Amino acid sequence: MKHTLPQLPYALDAFGSRISKETFEFHYGKHHQAYVDNLNRLIENTPYEDMSLEEIVCKAGPGAICNNAAQAWNHEFFFMTLTPDPVEIPAALESRMEQSFGTIENFKTVFVKAAVTLFGSGWVWLVEDKEGELMVMQTSNAGNPLPQGYRPLLTVDVWEHAYYIDYRNRRQAFVETCLELMDWSKVASRL
Ligand code: MN
Repeated sequence: MKHTLPQLPYALDAFGSRISKETFEFHYGKHHQAYVDNLNRLIENTPYEDMSLEEIVCKAGPGAICNNAAQAWNHEFFFMTLTPDPVEIPAALESRMEQSFGTIENFKTVFVKAAVTLFGSGWVWLVEDKEGELMVMQTSNAGNPLPQGYRPLLTVDVWEHAYYIDYRNRRQAFVETCLELMDWSKVASRL
C-alpha cells in the first residue's frame, strides 16, 4: 500500500501565531512528508508492503520501517486532533477524565509535567488502558502506545521540530497551547 500525506482539515495558517503557518510548512510539509516517503521506500518488496500503518506499527520489530510507520501514524493522529475552533470536552469524556485524574485541571498538570520531563524527543499521550482507565503516557522518539495494547486518545509531539520555530525552547508553552486546540469531540469518539 502506498502511504500518503493526509489532507489537513484546516488551513496551514488557521492557528495564527499559536502554531504558525511556517511551523506547519516544515512540520507537516517536510517532516511528516519525509516519514511517509521514507516508509514507502523502505516497505517496497517487503511483507509490510500491503499493511496499514497501524499493522506495521504493531508488527514490525525495532528498526527503520517501524520508526517511519510510527512517525507517520503519530503525526497524522496529532495533526488530525487539532482544531482552530475551540471544542468543549463532551460530558461523557469529562466524567471519565475526572474518574482517572480527579479534575480536568489536574489532568492538564499531569500531561504538561509528562511533556516537560520527557528527556529528548518523543510524544505525550492520553491513553485508555485495557481496564478502561485513562492515563498519561510518555513515549521516546517514534514510540507509539498501540503495540502495548493501549488505546490512544490524544497526543502532543514534543520533538523540538514541533515547537522551535514558534516557541524556541519553551516546550511547556507549546504543550499548553496544544491542549487548548484539541478537538475534544474527536478525542471522545475514540473511547
Ligand atoms: Mn513531529
